[in-house]
Amino acid sequence: MTIQTAEIKGIPIPVSRVGLGTWAIGGWMWGGADDQASIATIRGTIERGINLIDTAPVYGFGHSEEIVGRALEGIRDRTVIATKMALQWDGGNITRNSSAARIRQEVEDSLRRLRTDRIDLYQVHWPDTTVPFEETAAALETLRRQGKILAIGVSNYTPAQMDAFASAAPLVAVQSPYNLFERGIEADVLPYARDKGLVVLAYGALCRGLLSGRMRSTTTFSGDDLRKADPKFQQPRFGEYLAAVDALSELARETYGKSVLALAVRWVLQQGPTIALWGARRPDQLAAIDEVFGWTISTADLDRIDALLGQHVRHPIGPEFMAPPLRTPKA
Ligand code: NAP
Repeated sequence: MTIQTAEIKGIPIPVSRVGLGTWAIGGWMWGGADDQASIATIRGTIERGINLIDTAPVYGFGHSEEIVGRALEGIRDRTVIATKMALQWDGGNITRNSSAARIRQEVEDSLRRLRTDRIDLYQVHWPDTTVPFEETAAALETLRRQGKILAIGVSNYTPAQMDAFASAAPLVAVQSPYNLFERGIEADVLPYARDKGLVVLAYGALCRGLLSGRMRSTTTFSGDDLRKADPKFQQPRFGEYLAAVDALSELARETYGKSVLALAVRWVLQQGPTIALWGARRPDQLAAIDEVFGWTISTADLDRIDALLGQHVRHPIGPEFMAPPLRTPKA
């Protein structure tokens, strides 16, 4: 099995078109994490030929980055680390902050936690409209020139925000929510990325596990797991999504001999200049990586998939519930 790769300008090695997402590895908003299992998952991912690891400081308030740093010791040069900045947390209260001063501090904290001297892809986590986009971009361009970061990306940005940003720094990638159930970027970000030559890191490729094939109407979540509040996981909507997953599973199995999880990731890879970010936290969840490459969903089946989604998901809803707020000005 050959793993497909993409070029990201500034990064010296080809990047696998599937990346490991490590939000759940931070524990926060996913009901906790088991560090030994997390480290085994990251190392297992690299052994399977996936070299891209996506993380962020806010995932467990530094914990995800620390675990990534520990897991990559000794194999760092074969890997591509994508991390982020510009979210601050005060006692668990998350707000956006992409000021130049904040970025200068965050890069040092991330390099230390990741146990590395450079970040391959450094992404602004959420647009902060209280700071000029040009200020944020210029701060990142300074870091790029210093060699602390190799390439610059943004996340959750609109095309207009990317235009402003790109006037002050070379933008090479955008990270956006994208999966079979969350298609909003097809109207704007995806065509923009194609036009500008940006790579799209599609996050939530499994729609927070909904497209894994593991979910049942009786599935429950524990602790601070965000799926307790995720509107897709609330009835009666949850039932609509599960019915769609059943129909997609049948198509994947009968036509291609694949799992619905492999179909979901494959689908993302066929939509343009995409890389699919797949969140996993246990080594047993990685087996399906081998099912993703080396086959293609036919054009007729892409249409059938859209028809199935329209038939079953009567009340679609997006991922907007995840957006963190802006800072409120101090009184
Ligand atoms: P995801 O990839 O859609 O789903 C991850 C969940 O799917 C896992 O935690 C696991 O849930 C389940 N899963 C994975 N492999 C499985 C398997 N083989 N069998 C059964 N279930 C499986 O969700 P995500 O983690 O939110 O998104 C991926 C990554 O994108 C994140 O980790 C993060 O790096 C990035 N992201 C970025 C942003 C942003 O604003 N830029 C936002 C969200 C995510 P259980 O372990 O509970 O079963």
